[in-house]
Amino acid sequence: MTDNEKLAELLFPDLTLTPQQCEERYPARQLPEGARVTRFAPSPTGYLHIGGLFAAMTARLTAKATNGVFFLRIEDTDKKREVADGVTAIVTGLEAFGITPDEGVTGLNAESGSYGPYHQSARRELYQCFAKELVRQGLAYPCFCTEEELEALRGRQEAAGVNKGYYGEWATCRALPFEEQKKALEAGKPYTLRLRSPGEESRRIRFDDLIKGKIEMPENTQDIVLLKTDGIPTYHFAHAVDDHLMRTTHVVRGDEWIASVPLHLQLFQCCGFKPVKYAHFAPIMKEENGGKRKLSKRKDPEAAVSYYIEQGYPKESVIEYLLTLANSNFEDWRRANKTAPQSEFPFNLKKMSASGALFDLQKLNDVSKNVISLMTADEIYEKTTAWARQYDEALYRLLTADEAYAKGIFQIDRGVAKPRKDIAKWSEVKHFVAYFYEELYEPDYALPENLTPAAAAEILRAYLAGYDPEEEKDAWFERIKALCAPLGYTPNVKEYKKDPQAFKGHVGDVSAVIRIAVTARHNTPDLHAIMRLLGGERVRSRMQAALKHYEEA
Ligand code: GLU
Repeated sequence: MTDNEKLAELLFPDLTLTPQQCEERYPARQLPEGARVTRFAPSPTGYLHIGGLFAAMTARLTAKATNGVFFLRIEDTDKKREVADGVTAIVTGLEAFGITPDEGVTGLNAESGSYGPYHQSARRELYQCFAKELVRQGLAYPCFCTEEELEALRGRQEAAGVNKGYYGEWATCRALPFEEQKKALEAGKPYTLRLRSPGEESRRIRFDDLIKGKIEMPENTQDIVLLKTDGIPTYHFAHAVDDHLMRTTHVVRGDEWIASVPLHLQLFQCCGFKPVKYAHFAPIMKEENGGKRKLSKRKDPEAAVSYYIEQGYPKESVIEYLLTLANSNFEDWRRANKTAPQSEFPFNLKKMSASGALFDLQKLNDVSKNVISLMTADEIYEKTTAWARQYDEALYRLLTADEAYAKGIFQIDRGVAKPRKDIAKWSEVKHFVAYFYEELYEPDYALPENLTPAAAAEILRAYLAGYDPEEEKDAWFERIKALCAPLGYTPNVKEYKKDPQAFKGHVGDVSAVIRIAVTARHNTPDLHAIMRLLGGERVRSRMQAALKHYEEA
């Protein structure tokens, strides 16, 4: 036995699992040529960030575009940062937006797939197996340095003006003879396991990032920690072991990891693994005071995906918006394929912006209005009531008390060539439907500047005299037009514009008064449809109340 082999046995005396057995347990996947295997690998720190959803979406689309596999792995090796319902937040967050993994973690205590376990905390033996192998090959060693010693090392490096870290001749435990290692281990000294980096500062590595393009960086020379003192792996080591054994082909992740690629490629090489391909995307940014910054959980409520759920954005809208951020050609595709399902968009990793998209709630609202405008009244009813059931009970009760009536509201100006784009999220529906419900309706008789209360009263009196709730749209409008001339208005807007002095106003002013009296709004969808739905009795009593108000004003 070599000293390295002896050391490996000393460090991992009970471990019998071999890399060979691991390879057999997790064989290469049987997938069609070119199929990509991707993953989303969040840490359960309590909430799902919109950037996390973006990462998961792009990873999933990458797999879907090639008939590959997308899985969810929970990176729970940092117990200090972990929170109790962290996994639930991730699983339910992804589910709420339809980002369902093909395998991996599917629930709080649920997993599926043959490459698990998919919680890193349950993979200890696998990390140890490869750590042991690295020790056997002289590529890893125990480091007994204490925090204080490492701190002192940093001080010395600072004074000497050299790179900080544990590397080369600064890595004191690197050169410990076997006898000393043995003595320290037998004395029960705590240790971390470090990589014996084969890298050299003068050498450079090159790799082709699928988003950022060709990248060249110095090799890694740091003897980074593979296993912490408690035997738990660091992110870097777990990444190499997991993505190899889970047969990931493409790692799609945030570009904060790009600086670690030289280390990661080195780890793959030291372990004898085929390297994965990387696609690093820039974080979603927010514009603030002319500058850009990352969306922050502390400052921006919209950083957490729960925000979109609570506000009642349909999942289709959020995904549609994220797609506009992901691929710059998405909007062109959408213009050419107005009603096609999102899944038909030919997503391409290479078309992702290398420099980072700006998050814009206003744009999300516009996208969402568009998405909702294409939904049927029934769909809107279903989705709004599902949202309201949880977040606005009063609205839920109102809408469900008379389903046909509620669907009638959503039907107005919908299913036509140019549907109205007025709802961006379900929390706006209450305002939108307010005048259809006595419980929500609040009269507001304020008139546009060009109309006096006396003029409004005159219009309402004349309209009420002939009001027929059964009238079809054309007849209804003819009646409004017919009111114009006797009251000094013109039914013809062009005529009015030609000679405004000749009239009190035009047909638009006459219908504005009726609209305000019936809905308390200056803008509404199709007024005829609204009046039909409200019914003659309600319309008449609202107009009478308005008339009274204007007469007394
Ligand atoms: N657990 C890492 C994170 O949450 C995963 C990064 C990766 O995708 O490799 O940042």
